[in-house]
Amino acid sequence: MSRHDDLNILIDVRRLDYDYDEKPVTHTRTINVIDQYEQHHTGANGPASLSFDHKRRWILAIERFHEMEKHWSDVFYHIFIFADGEVWEGRDVLRTSQGNIGRAITVHLPGNNPVITEAQYLACLAIARWATNRPANVRDHQQRPAATYCSGDNGRNNIKRLRQELNMPLTDLLPEDLTNHADWTTAEDYGWISGNGQRVASRSVVGVVATRAYRQTVKAVNVVGGRVTRNTAAISATEAKLASQAQRISQLTTSVSQLSTKVAALEGRTTTAIDNEAIVAAVVEKLTD
Ligand SMILES: [Zn+2]
Repeated sequence: MSRHDDLNILIDVRRLDYDYDEKPVTHTRTINVIDQYEQHHTGANGPASLSFDHKRRWILAIERFHEMEKHWSDVFYHIFIFADGEVWEGRDVLRTSQGNIGRAITVHLPGNNPVITEAQYLACLAIARWATNRPANVRDHQQRPAATYCSGDNGRNNIKRLRQELNMPLTDLLPEDLTNHADWTTAEDYGWISGNGQRVASRSVVGVVATRAYRQTVKAVNVVGGRVTRNTAAISATEAKLASQAQRISQLTTSVSQLSTKVAALEGRTTTAIDNEAIVAAVVEKLTD
């Protein structure tokens, strides 16, 4: 799967699913340059409710505002994440939001300093994890830095949590006792564990449990992926060190062998000098005979 496919999997509602006549745009970058997560809020009201139609009309109003009032080419943000954790696609991710943030995927949290729900946080984590495994590459609008309150105090706490989690080991992500997990309790209530099936679950309950299980899996896979990348980097750094030490050892070996040759040469001269002395002594002895 390509990196673009990996992102599309995280998106619940694609642009053409709600903005039916949006035309294709000119791309300004490739998917691989994206390695930053930048978070924004509205600074005004979010949608009237979490119904599909309210979300749809609310995003289209933002698009109209950006195009008609601000004279931008399209809605600014690439990703919208609603309180129920639903991820909607905005601007084409291959088109940068703004010239000076060409490496960022821009993520919008609806509302004015909105309280971030757990579902919203998990969706943010999945997008951040997709963009990067470096906590320093995860920021909000104010931390760019820019003179703005965006994305609010709650948004900045969300950034703090995302940054911490990007460095967290897998064991911290999974509940120690699964039987205390909300999904386990639900499954028990509905008789899914015992196999009795006393209660028939509604489609939405099944949907919520399945989505949570799916997101938990994505989260775990991403964490493992991040750790593998970090370990690979550490291994190649160690290999580079070993290679440079091996080179140094070979240089030293060469020096030692050159010194040995010199010593041998000096010894040779000494031997010759001694031999000469012996000859001179012999001659002197002959002459004095
Ligand atoms: Zn902003």
